Amino acid sequence: MNYKIAVIKGDGIGPEIVDEATKVLDVIGEKYGHTFTYTNVLMGGCAIDATGVPLPDETVKICKESDSVLLGAVGGPKWDTLPGHLRPEKGLLGIRSALGLYANLRPAVLYAPLKDACMLKPETVKGGLDILIVRELTGGIYFGERGRRQGKNGEEAYDTECYSVPEIERIARVAFETARKRKKKLASVDKANVLESSRLWREVIHRMAKEYPDVECRDVLVDNAAMQLVRDPAQFDVIVTSNMFGDILSDEASMITGSIGMLPSASLGEGKLGLYEPTHGSAPDIAGQGKANPIATIISAGMMLRYAFDLQAEADAIDTAVLAVLEKGLRTPDIAGVGGQKTLTTTEMGDAIRAE
Ligand code: ATP
Ligand code: MG
Repeated sequence: MNYKIAVIKGDGIGPEIVDEATKVLDVIGEKYGHTFTYTNVLMGGCAIDATGVPLPDETVKICKESDSVLLGAVGGPKWDTLPGHLRPEKGLLGIRSALGLYANLRPAVLYAPLKDACMLKPETVKGGLDILIVRELTGGIYFGERGRRQGKNGEEAYDTECYSVPEIERIARVAFETARKRKKKLASVDKANVLESSRLWREVIHRMAKEYPDVECRDVLVDNAAMQLVRDPAQFDVIVTSNMFGDILSDEASMITGSIGMLPSASLGEGKLGLYEPTHGSAPDIAGQGKANPIATIISAGMMLRYAFDLQAEADAIDTAVLAVLEKGLRTPDIAGVGGQKTLTTTEMGDAIRAE
């Protein structure tokens, strides 16, 4: 098969880490008989420099014509002083909404060879850690009506959370389907003891759970979920939650694994066109020095194979290669302190994974 991938290298370390990921895809293509063709498009700071806007129309057009989108990272100090609508991050929000990406999948995986980086006690994570957070991405309080003109002297502000049944249904469907492919265990996180939007959320989840009798589904209040994630994270497999709760919990979950350069993400919508990117940013402090860890981007490319193209064996091959490299003690500087024997540059790490 031939797969068309739109590639947004972006700014900072973006180009370095994306190049390693596409080279890994090429090796997978050779081994399994697929062709991946890449079209480079601009977004973020580099797009501002070249075209004056963070998300050129051409970029959206090419992404829509592709089978999937691979992104490095955007932004950096060079563009921090521009007015709001011209910031690199506007490119990211813009592409998510242009592609209708309403589900953000963020795995938090503790790789056994890196377990010393984990912030929790060894006995808490002795069985490993492999959680997937499914976060609603285009609704809820981040997109609700807001204002600052209330009260005496305008000294009050408000934000509103609104969720509709179809919005909850579609994110729930992604979560149930994903849970079905994993351990068939889903935790729906809300604040239904206080919030009306959460009560609707819970109602819809319960209704949909009947369509997935093979998935064990339970409700967890968000404050309890935050606590349980550090007390006993292994009780979770897939977590589904709203935009704001997902924002907070996915940062919490990723930090307990202790390795920012290791964590991938996928943003999905209707159909198969999704956006795959590392969770971390453009790391301008280490850009161009060969110090960036390409693993988060390489695993993101693996998620693309799994979710966009349904290439399970190929995706497994990437995960296995990453684990093998870590088991050999090969490390980029960000994870060098964790049982590593040899520190590699960005390209050397990419090469090592390709060799596996
Ligand atoms: P954003 O606002 O885009 O999230 P940020 O400035 O908050 O960006 P990052 O760009 O993720 O955060 O960088 C945070 C720290 O982590 C920096 O010190 C950076 O060098 C480091 N870092 C981020 N990604 C990597 C990576 N792939 N490899 C090594 N170090 C990284
Ligand atoms: Mg930041």
